[in-house]
Amino acid sequence: MRKLIVVALFLLPLSAAAQNVLWTALTEGNAAYVKGDADFPRLPPTRMTWAASQAPPFSILSCSDSRVPAELIFVRTVGELFVVRVAGNTPGTFDIASLQYAVANKWTRLIVVMAHSDCGAVKAAMAKDDSGLTDQLKALVKQIRDSGIERSDKPTPEQLRAAAEKNAKYAAGLVARSPVIKEALAAGTVKIIIAYYDVASGKAEQISEITSAE
Ligand SMILES: [Zn+2]
Repeated sequence: MRKLIVVALFLLPLSAAAQNVLWTALTEGNAAYVKGDADFPRLPPTRMTWAASQAPPFSILSCSDSRVPAELIFVRTVGELFVVRVAGNTPGTFDIASLQYAVANKWTRLIVVMAHSDCGAVKAAMAKDDSGLTDQLKALVKQIRDSGIERSDKPTPEQLRAAAEKNAKYAAGLVARSPVIKEALAAGTVKIIIAYYDVASGKAEQISEITSAE
C-alpha cells in the first residue's frame, strides 16, 4: 500500500517549491561535504532496503574526473543518486539513454548537469591542436566545441570556467530536448539544474535551470 502511494506521488507534477526542496536537499548535503562532515552510516541495512528495486529522485550527469564523486559531494547514500559520468559531462547516445531510463521509470524528479573546475576535457576542447587525440576523443572534444566555447591553448581560470559552464548548458540542452525528458519537462514532473563544482572548495552551485524543453 505504501509503495502504491509513493508511485502515485511520483506521477504528479512538482510545484516549483517542491522542486526547489530537492535542490536544497542536495545543497545541504554539499554544505556538510565542504565542512568535512560526509558520513555514511548504516550502509548494510540501506543496501538491503534497495536490494530489489530503486527509486532515486535525483539524476546527476557529471564528469568522470576522479575529483567529482557525486555521492560524496552531495552526501547521498545507496539508492539516492542515479549517476551518469562521462568525460566533460558530454552526453552521448547511451548517456542520454541512461537519463531517459531514470525519467521513464518516474524516479527522477531533478536532473543535475554538473560542470567542474580544472576540467581536462574542456581544456582539450579549448586547445587548438588535436594531434595525438584518438578519433573517439576528437568526437568528444568536437561536441564540447559545438557548445560555442572560446578556443585557447592557455586559458585563464575565468576562460576555463566560462567554457565549462557553456558546455554544461549545452549538454543540458541536449538532454532536455531528448524524447521522454522533453515530455517530462513539459509536464512539470522533472526539472534540470545546471551546476558548477569547484574541485578545490568542494562547493557545488547552481548556474541556471531548465524547466521546459522550449
Ligand atoms: Zn572534467
